[in-house]
Amino acid sequence: MTAQVKHYIDGQFVLGQGQTQITVTNPANNQPIALINAATEAEVETAIASAKLAFKSWKEVPVSERARVMLRYQHLLKIHHDELATILAQETGKTFDDAKGDVWRGIEVVEHACNVASLMMGETVENVARSIDTYSYTQPLGVCVGITPFNFPAMIPLWMFPLAIACGNTFVLKPSEQDPMTPQRLVELFEEAGAPKGVLQLIHGDKTAVDILLRHPEVKALSFVGSVAVGQYVYRTGTDHLKRVQAFAGAKNHCVIMPDANKQQVINHLVGASVGAAGQRCMALSVAVFVGEAKTWIPELKAAIAKVKPGLWDDKEAGYGPLISPAAKARVIDLITQGIEEGADCLLDGRDFAVAGFESGNWIGPTVFDNVTKDMVIYKEEIFGPVLSCMHADTLDAAIEIVNASPYGNGTSIFTACGAAARKYQHEIEVGQVGINVPIPVPLPFFSFTGWKGSFYGDQHAYGKQAVRFYTETKTITARWFESDIEIASSPNMTIG
Ligand code: NAD
Repeated sequence: MTAQVKHYIDGQFVLGQGQTQITVTNPANNQPIALINAATEAEVETAIASAKLAFKSWKEVPVSERARVMLRYQHLLKIHHDELATILAQETGKTFDDAKGDVWRGIEVVEHACNVASLMMGETVENVARSIDTYSYTQPLGVCVGITPFNFPAMIPLWMFPLAIACGNTFVLKPSEQDPMTPQRLVELFEEAGAPKGVLQLIHGDKTAVDILLRHPEVKALSFVGSVAVGQYVYRTGTDHLKRVQAFAGAKNHCVIMPDANKQQVINHLVGASVGAAGQRCMALSVAVFVGEAKTWIPELKAAIAKVKPGLWDDKEAGYGPLISPAAKARVIDLITQGIEEGADCLLDGRDFAVAGFESGNWIGPTVFDNVTKDMVIYKEEIFGPVLSCMHADTLDAAIEIVNASPYGNGTSIFTACGAAARKYQHEIEVGQVGINVPIPVPLPFFSFTGWKGSFYGDQHAYGKQAVRFYTETKTITARWFESDIEIASSPNMTIG
């Protein structure tokens, strides 16, 4: 049965009037599971107008009451954790455990948003001059927007709207059109948590909807997560229209494996971090740089990766699911083919993989290349598939040089038993999130998600204190009170009113 995806505009769940229909498919067999009527321009306008109106009253709601909405939301998300993960797994193809992780990492951000009063505290200095004090407040901006990708349909919307709204803003969410049902359920639960009408709006669509949001004068700040090309476009267009923009983009994450590392741990970690979630993670480790004799572990690594079997979301034995779409699959197959043609050694080729009974799905088996070089397309492009590229370096310095030459800077890891090597790596590496014997170093929400270079455009990052700065303006007050007025105020002849 095909469901109809709903927008949430001005406090109502509506089907949408748009003539453009988008079909949401099950990636395991490409059968339709839901239909979207993309939002019309008028619907996007209504959503923004409603968010603008709601801002007037929402910003006056005391911060502790706003926090209580987040507390109720966090509680509801936990109650509905399995249900959300099931919806998410069915529309993305992720395994159930992976889908639960996607939801959980979002819940953690909502927990963080419950602490909004402390996060919004300003600064004070008494007596900056005689009888003069200076103090600052953080105040919300107005209507904020989130544009999110397909690969974390729970976590990434939850990176954005809970903190923005807890800070007193109102929010318009435009999630990926490839898996819109998880965000729809997140919004239903937010309403159930007691968020007033208009505070959160949900509109579905593609570039057409994004283009209106990017240019709309009432939109004050815009958070984007997605591919490099679209991220650059969103950043340029949004800032050109004088908005605050944070754009998280693509990645090519390297790990460096020193010969003194714990071999078994390296192999275990690399299996999950490279091909887990079909490699469709912005923090996936897609390049492994083996230093010196560590390269002798590659055959064992390949054997471990070869054991990972893709499968259906509810198959407990499945290592990962299908890619999101036939286009994504075709792109990854094309890149693997180019890698072979360019002369990389393809140790494991996943191009012909299919799950029995689901041959029409977007499957790709785990794939491993060795002797990849910096000039190859499979090295330069973000593959976003279950493909690991192995490279070699003679020294740690040479490995650092490889990583720092990459235009991306989302995440990286070093595996070593040597503290000095780890410290040198963390200090010299030009990447925003560094793991030491930790394969996917995604910071918890009290830190921020701090990608660098071509993986991020903007300055304040997602969640943590930086997100609060992104979604607020600082007001600095300098106040002077005259002691002589105290006598007047306490005089019996003074009348008030
Ligand atoms: P995408 O860029 O195709 O889509 C992201 C959003 O932009 C969607 O909502 C989509 O509707 C919209 N969009 C698509 N094309 C557009 C256009 N031409 N103009 C305006 N809007 C457009 O990304 P995706 O394929 O959904 O997600 C995968 C990408 O996201 C990967 O590159 C991955 O690395 C990246 N990603 C980055 C991070 C990070 O934190 N850096 C996190 C997750 C995903």
